[in-house]
Amino acid sequence: MAENTSKVVYRALSLGAGVQSSVLALLLARSDPRLTELGYLKPDTAIFADTGWEPDYVYQHLDWLEKQLNYPLIRVSSGDIRKNLRQGRTSTGHRFVDVPLFLVNESGKKGMLRRQCTTHYKIVPIHRRVRELAGGRRGRPFPKDEHAEMWLGISTDEAGRMKPSREPWVEHQWPLVDIGMTRRECAEWFAYNYPGRVLPRSACVICPYRSDDHWLELKRSEPDSYDEAVKFDRWLRKSRTNPVRALLNGRPYLHRERRPLATVIAEREAGTPSSVDYFNEECEGLCGV
Ligand code: SF4
Repeated sequence: MAENTSKVVYRALSLGAGVQSSVLALLLARSDPRLTELGYLKPDTAIFADTGWEPDYVYQHLDWLEKQLNYPLIRVSSGDIRKNLRQGRTSTGHRFVDVPLFLVNESGKKGMLRRQCTTHYKIVPIHRRVRELAGGRRGRPFPKDEHAEMWLGISTDEAGRMKPSREPWVEHQWPLVDIGMTRRECAEWFAYNYPGRVLPRSACVICPYRSDDHWLELKRSEPDSYDEAVKFDRWLRKSRTNPVRALLNGRPYLHRERRPLATVIAEREAGTPSSVDYFNEECEGLCGV
């Protein structure tokens, strides 16, 4: 890829509030020499896009994290994914389902909806705010000789998620990949530096990308949120006239086995849960990091 020679006018850390981006935020606040040597100093801001339906422990973690940082953390939103989904709408008001639900149609054929929620609830509000903060003027093209850097918390074991920005005025950077840190090393670093503190995995309460492990973690640590996911999963198939079902050609499920979430997770509690999640499919590196 050709080197971007335009001037960097803003540096934003995209904060998913999960393991990798939280550790990256803390390393930057501590001016970790591995990062400073590569020119990763403090970002202008860390930015978190709130879908409105994360588990409470993610919001609590975010509040704690904000107090550890010596640079601003801002929260942005393009709407409440829970409310919009219940109406079968996207954040832009369009009538379609943007969450990657698993489907089975009448003849038993399996499918999965295309994920567009990351774009609607993460990328759009983050880009909108960073563009403003970087001096971009509404309705005017961003100056060709300037760009903003977006630092993403992707680790080396998830390097397949590294993708260039679709916006010419944004350049993606992956500091954890540059210093060779894996997700496991991030978790170990956090456990060593903040003993006894839990570092949560982030994702919407109803995210179909969760592994069985991740569902069980939600059930154990926040039963009310897990119950919300179970109820939502049932509601999805409740009647052909519900606003989500009415838009789909098939029966929708939150779990990849295309069976009721409560049934599958109850079985996993008694057996061996799978730790395989689908976040590698989420190439923007904004969910689950
Ligand atoms: S966490 Fe899952 S449901 Fe939420 S925006 Fe990301 S991919 Fe979509």
